Amino acid sequence: MTYSITEIASILGVSDKNIIPSEISILLVDSRKLSDPEKSLFFALESKNNDAHQFITDLYQSGVRNFVVSKKWKEWAPFSDANFFQVKNPLSALQKIAAHHRRKFDIPVIGITGSNGKTVVKEWLYQLLQDDYNIVRSPRSYNSQIGVPLSVWQLNEQTQIGIFEAGISQPDEMEHLEPVIRPTMGILTNIGKAHQENFESIQQKCMEKLELFTNCEMFVYEEDDKMIDECVNLSVLSQKSFAWSSDNTDAPLYIFKIEKNQFQSIIHYSFLHFNHAFAIPFTDQASIENAIDCLAVMLYLHVSPETISERMKKLEPVAMRLDVRRGKKDCLIINDTYNSDINSIEIALDFQQQRKMDRPLKKTLILSDILQSGISSEALYQEVAGMVQKRGIEKIIGIGKNISENAGAFRVQEKLFFPSTEAFIQSQKWKNFHNELILLKGARAYHFEQINALIEERPHETVMEVDLDAVVHNFNFYKSKLSPEVKLVCMVKANAYGTGAVEVAKTLQYHRCDYLAVAVAEEGIALRNAGISIPTIVLNSEVNGFEELFSNNLEPEVYNFRILESFIKEADRRGVTDYPVHIKIDTGMHRLGFLPEQLPQLVNILQEQKALKVRSVFSHLSASESWIFDDFTGHQIETLKKTAESIQDALGYRIYKHILNSAGIERFPEAQWDMVRLGIGLYGVSASGLPGLKNVCTLKTTILQIKDIPRHETVGYGRKEELNRNARIATIRIGYADGLNRQFGNRKGQVLINGQLASIVGNVCMDLCMVDVTDISAHEGDAVIIFGEDLSVIELADNIGTIPYEILTAISPRVKRIYIKE
Ligand SMILES: *Cc1c(COP(=O)(O)O)cnc(C)c1O
Repeated sequence: MTYSITEIASILGVSDKNIIPSEISILLVDSRKLSDPEKSLFFALESKNNDAHQFITDLYQSGVRNFVVSKKWKEWAPFSDANFFQVKNPLSALQKIAAHHRRKFDIPVIGITGSNGKTVVKEWLYQLLQDDYNIVRSPRSYNSQIGVPLSVWQLNEQTQIGIFEAGISQPDEMEHLEPVIRPTMGILTNIGKAHQENFESIQQKCMEKLELFTNCEMFVYEEDDKMIDECVNLSVLSQKSFAWSSDNTDAPLYIFKIEKNQFQSIIHYSFLHFNHAFAIPFTDQASIENAIDCLAVMLYLHVSPETISERMKKLEPVAMRLDVRRGKKDCLIINDTYNSDINSIEIALDFQQQRKMDRPLKKTLILSDILQSGISSEALYQEVAGMVQKRGIEKIIGIGKNISENAGAFRVQEKLFFPSTEAFIQSQKWKNFHNELILLKGARAYHFEQINALIEERPHETVMEVDLDAVVHNFNFYKSKLSPEVKLVCMVKANAYGTGAVEVAKTLQYHRCDYLAVAVAEEGIALRNAGISIPTIVLNSEVNGFEELFSNNLEPEVYNFRILESFIKEADRRGVTDYPVHIKIDTGMHRLGFLPEQLPQLVNILQEQKALKVRSVFSHLSASESWIFDDFTGHQIETLKKTAESIQDALGYRIYKHILNSAGIERFPEAQWDMVRLGIGLYGVSASGLPGLKNVCTLKTTILQIKDIPRHETVGYGRKEELNRNARIATIRIGYADGLNRQFGNRKGQVLINGQLASIVGNVCMDLCMVDVTDISAHEGDAVIIFGEDLSVIELADNIGTIPYEILTAISPRVKRIYIKE
């Protein structure tokens, strides 16, 4: 749907006689997602860490002519052919427009909130209702103050039901989201501890979430959670509630029995005095609760129990995010083979578009028929072809009858069409993929996973997933703890603590990190070669290494006279002046650095040369995480402060001083000074146990074989462990050569399989190890988590008396890193 810019101005209540006419169909909040400049209205959102006004010039140059800003637009005065609407808060403006759009639709809208399961419930409702309705839903987990308005904006003339999720992390946020979603039906999935930081109590958070349902006809919740039940009563919403319970036979929806076997759960329920049952192909508790929430909505929409049962048994797992995998012949594959409605195609295309590449790759799309009701197939493929063309797709492979019939709509250099997935596979054309960024986007019925299996490179199924969104979250989390002028150095040494320095640094560069630090020059050079231009400190620089540093614009740490003199000499020889260096002071760690008593001599040398310029003076804390040593840490802080100040006084120019590492940032805010150095915290581990970080790394492998082994047999090398019972033993594909420490052997370590813990049996081998799965559900081919969100590296480290740093950096290079990003 399009709006005239005049209509938008009147929604925003800004009057401007000189509006330059245009038609708006895209609300743009992320400059990277620009696809159709003329139709885009850009909102210059401001957050604590970012101010999007800085992107306006670029966007203008790309053709955007409509902007919602909060600042005076004098600096953009030359852009006289563009509309600038100045408002107090561009985010509120975005919400206002979306709320206005929402009011145009008199259709059922389902609003989902709660601590967990929102996205799964939303996707499942979509799976369960898509045969009956034309549905618009939030893309992935677009549930924030920004994501919700963008989701609702997708409502159009064909929409018959909207399904949107709302997430909040602060009091008063729901009051902004409710008018945007204005649900007629609601679901409260559950209330847990997530995002609790900003609420006084869990009740306060629950009450806030219930505000979403103020204007609902009905909402679903689980009555057995007494806290929620009380809040519902307090909120005077109980007359609208559609509660379900496993205890209360009087509940509107009474769940009287749940049977589970290895593959499915059968849920028996009683509704309006009749008993029914349905099965879902999941056995975990969360899935059961999510399915019951969906059940309630279906019953309310008068879907028959037979149809419910028919559809529930076909529920598919929800892929929460797009991931990028390495393909054969230098391809990269974005695998999105769960659905292919038009909204999700657009999101996937944007994802492909934003993927920054270190080498040019041809953009290829493999797309199945789109299963969508509402508009004619001709119009549908016209629209898709438009999206595809706008994003510069160079090759398209269409699979299915409808898309093949509409082949003419696609104006793309290279195009191929096949009636079915089998036909494509048999054509052998997939063997020609080379140096391409391939987006696989197909409806489930087309089984694109078969194509993926052919083109994905799988030398070794042990992978480490690195969540770049979590890195950004953690980066902003620490930034929010700093005074605004304090600079943040991100430590990407040791391949960014094992996560992959290039990918992490690219992400940090985009998010405007001030400084990076690496251990050795080679690491810095690798970053420069990958296009990272952020100022970068090299910690362990070496005598004679100046040329390398200089030619790559890397800034060395200088920690002794030998290095200092060698660098001065080499810089002089090349006629270099004022080359930035960072002076390290040893305040008690006794590793690298000048001792405070060497200060007079140091100052002397520095005063008598022009080659180097001291950019910062710093030191490293030896026990910042431990309160036992707080006196010692205080002494280190004091010593550095004095030393740095006297160097600055002697040299007569501004010099940064810094001492805090991650735990230091968490515990000694008074010593932030000019800069801080963030390491392990960026990767999701808080040394001082601070809550609020997101997990970044997940190390995963698979089960190769499972066997029943009788009691008294031994497992593995050296016959270290004799089984004291008949056991099921699974062999998993990870060993000490992958970085799994041998100390984890003989039940010192555990892994997670299908959410349950399994102990490592016997010695860890080079490429494999064995785990005990006697008591848990496990199958050959199942995924095994070595560490991640639910089994933290901190726990692993504790089990074998080491630290998370060692566990992370020990993961061997042969373990493939997979990067995850919304
Ligand atoms: C590694 C390192 C850090 C980061 O330490 P974390 O504990 O990981 O935050 C900071 N400063 C120096 C000098 C380092 O070597």
